[in-house]
Amino acid sequence: MRDSYNRKIDYMRISVTNKCNFRCTYCMPEAKKVEETLSLDEIYQVAFAASECGISKFKITGGEPLVREGIVDFIKRLNDLDNVKDITMTSNGFYLLKYADALKSAGISSINVSLDSLDREKFKKIAGVDALEDVMAGIEASIKAGIATKINTVIQKGVNDDELFDIIELAKNDRVNIRFIEMMPIGHGKESKGVSNFEILERMKEKYIITEDTRRHGNGPAKYMKLEGFTGSIGFISAIHGKFCDACNRIRFTSTGKLKPCLCYDSNIDLKDILKDDSLSIDEKNTILREKINECIVSKPLAHSFEDISKISELKGMSEIGG
Ligand code: SAM
Ligand code: SF4
Repeated sequence: MRDSYNRKIDYMRISVTNKCNFRCTYCMPEAKKVEETLSLDEIYQVAFAASECGISKFKITGGEPLVREGIVDFIKRLNDLDNVKDITMTSNGFYLLKYADALKSAGISSINVSLDSLDREKFKKIAGVDALEDVMAGIEASIKAGIATKINTVIQKGVNDDELFDIIELAKNDRVNIRFIEMMPIGHGKESKGVSNFEILERMKEKYIITEDTRRHGNGPAKYMKLEGFTGSIGFISAIHGKFCDACNRIRFTSTGKLKPCLCYDSNIDLKDILKDDSLSIDEKNTILREKINECIVSKPLAHSFEDISKISELKGMSEIGG
């Protein structure tokens, strides 16, 4: 289906939980009182209706999706739907060693693992957990399971910018792509100092021979570069310094039942009451859900306003929205 700006909307990010076993400083440094989440069956009903509205690609996110019990079966059910072409996941990697093979069998094609430092102490400072080894083992397991594996890194000034080249070097011989995500002024991201992808690229140019990589590596807005002598590519998600809203293809659904047309604004359609209404038959619910999903697509704004903090109405953090 197309939105009112004629953009094709075929991608939904589903947050299956807002709980997480990490406490990343720019995401959810404090232990939060977690709002009630929907059951996976209720989330499935929304995904089913979305697939009937032309959504064919799903990203499973959170919080941490792998802390949600029943997540592998949920993915299997989603993968069995006729219209579904691609299911991917974003994870902190902690439980990947345990789940990689099962996720591959369930139908996950690609996983983005968040990794901001290769230094044990610094990792602990950023993620709030001493888990670098577990995450590295998870990345390894994901590659071995045959899942296309990408590493998501948010570079922060004075925190991990000294590790830029160490992180890039992970793509040299391994079959992983690295993607630099610009810090967004969402949640605690407002208090954190990111480094622009433009600056990262300029630093890379001093060290590597770089050419544009025009192959598609996913369903998102990352622009990729090839480095001479490297197996993996380096991607840039430049939400702030390279606004890509004209190619936006997505809507979001949170684990508490909110359909979101755009990351930047609080505007949402709450599906919780519909999903909890026992007086409605499954078919009646499905019809209403499809209407609401279409309404969400049509109400997508032209662009985000991350460059003007006064216009950002979304107050929730990334762990509640799903990134
Ligand atoms: N727990 C999973 C993970 O860490 O990948 C999935 C959820 S997490 C909210 C998704 C992604 O959002 C992570 O890659 C994280 O680094 C990123 N993220 C969180 N807060 C951010 C912010 N303010 N700006 C940019 N990226 C952010
Ligand atoms: Fe958890 Fe992911 Fe947020 Fe870190 S970025 S606290 S791993 S949800």
